[in-house]
Amino acid sequence: MTATATLTVDLDALAHNVHALAAISGAPVHPVVKADSYGLGAIPVAQRLLREGSRTFFVARLAEGIALRSALGPEPTLYVLDGCVGDAAPALKAADLRPILNHGDQLMAWRAADGGACGLQIDTGMNRLGFRIEDAPAPFEGLSLVMSHLACADEPAQPMNRRQRDAFAAAAARYPGALRSFANSGGCFLGPDYAFDAVRPGICLYGGGPEGRPHDRIKPVATLSARVLQVRDVPAGESIGYSRGFVAPEARRIATCGAGYADGVLRSQCPNGQVWVAGSLRPILGRVSMDVIAVDVTGLDVAVGDPVELFGPNHLLDDAAAAAGTISYELLTSVTARVPRRYEG
Ligand SMILES: *Cc1c(COP(=O)(O)O)cnc(C)c1O
Repeated sequence: MTATATLTVDLDALAHNVHALAAISGAPVHPVVKADSYGLGAIPVAQRLLREGSRTFFVARLAEGIALRSALGPEPTLYVLDGCVGDAAPALKAADLRPILNHGDQLMAWRAADGGACGLQIDTGMNRLGFRIEDAPAPFEGLSLVMSHLACADEPAQPMNRRQRDAFAAAAARYPGALRSFANSGGCFLGPDYAFDAVRPGICLYGGGPEGRPHDRIKPVATLSARVLQVRDVPAGESIGYSRGFVAPEARRIATCGAGYADGVLRSQCPNGQVWVAGSLRPILGRVSMDVIAVDVTGLDVAVGDPVELFGPNHLLDDAAAAAGTISYELLTSVTARVPRRYEG
């Protein structure tokens, strides 16, 4: 038994999800493995996805691309969403990374460096990164991919989705030689005309639903678990944790569990957070501490060393995120470096 909080990654579930997303969208999946694959570990995740047939990956940062290139070897195509930032061109080239060029200065820098293969982002309304349609450059040598990003893919009824899709289709037609990539996870579920040549999901690979709630075709991948460090009986009227965050209205049995905000258990988990313990969902009581939480196990048979699940197959990521007032993406990327990652499958 390891005493510490652990993030277990089910690589078979990851494999299921990548094939499910290809089937749902009808297009090849080019996985997004930025931010260390949303905290799950970019290298083991990408290695498994390679075995499942993925040959093109997206990262956000140059450093992520360099690390992935040295782990995966020369074969896969790696795109860097940040683009060619500042004087990054030589480092991008040295690692055979393709920047997604987002504006004119990036395009100039890449050309000045004789950069070679790259992608282009067209902004179709998100106003975050990418060329405005009217500023998009003429087709040029080396352009291998053209992409855009949906602002509201998690809201299928949002009319902006269709407007962005149509704007992208028109803009991408200018670049006949380039692969067209448009849909993130949510976009994979919007219909076949959103898929274009390759889809670009992140969160659904890692077990989050496309609309911020669990989806029956997406399997849970990540489990954040901890161990019970101590079990105690708290008499009525006594308080639990910092600032008397919870005062017991009647006698309660409490399990103090070894996961806190320094592991990525958000403080916003209280007062609504729950954990799965001994076969049921039980509330977190009082404040989340740095290293521990208190869980109400009144009436349960729970002992020191027993496991508790903060999210995973029994307490789904999207539900845990909602209880903390956030989204699956933030919950996953909040799991800190102190938490060992364990891989299954
Ligand atoms: C993060 C990101 C994705 C993946 O989005 P998900 O919602 O996690 O599927 C795709 N494209 C771009 C440009 C991104 O920044």
